[in-house]
Amino acid sequence: MQIVCLDLEGVLVPEIWIEFSRRTGIPELQRTTRDEPDYDKLMTYRLDILRRHKLGLPDIQKVIAEMGPMDGARAFLDKLREDYQVVILSDTFYEFAHPLMRQLGWPTLFCHSLEDDDDGMLVDYHLRMPDQKREAVKRFKELNFTVVAAGDSYNDTAMLGEAHGGILFHPPENVIREFPQYPVALNYDQLRAEIDRAFAKVA
Ligand SMILES: [Mg+2]
Repeated sequence: MQIVCLDLEGVLVPEIWIEFSRRTGIPELQRTTRDEPDYDKLMTYRLDILRRHKLGLPDIQKVIAEMGPMDGARAFLDKLREDYQVVILSDTFYEFAHPLMRQLGWPTLFCHSLEDDDDGMLVDYHLRMPDQKREAVKRFKELNFTVVAAGDSYNDTAMLGEAHGGILFHPPENVIREFPQYPVALNYDQLRAEIDRAFAKVA
């Protein structure tokens, strides 16, 4: 009884805000938690910019649909789902992820949500709960699942630590240095091999 928990952005799809900023030519949206550690301030700033550019949810979703998942992501995920239960744990929003989930064959996704008004303008965001990636893994373990988790960045390390096995996928150098306990996979074949290896180690 095994569950694979996968991060979304940087593992199966591009970083949504960064890619969105590039495609719309709005450089202010490149700002991340590295530049503004106060997440509420950062999100308020992002929603203001979207409103100022008159970008409503349908416009945003159209741009996101055009990004598409990363090369090979769909095939990797389809194959993985033949052998394991897979749950995607992400700090993105359902409304943003929706067009990409369609292209990935509607895998299970736990993330956060956005609120729009009658004109489709985004007015607020709602985090489902704090530290949700780690909490989800913890609950799956309580349900007697063996969990292997993979992600690419800092916001995944709590989930990797909570899981029976953790894997870094294409992480930045500083994350590799700070978390040497996790194996690193640089492509989907390696990631699949590390997932199988991690489960074999627990069994
Ligand atoms: Mg990520």
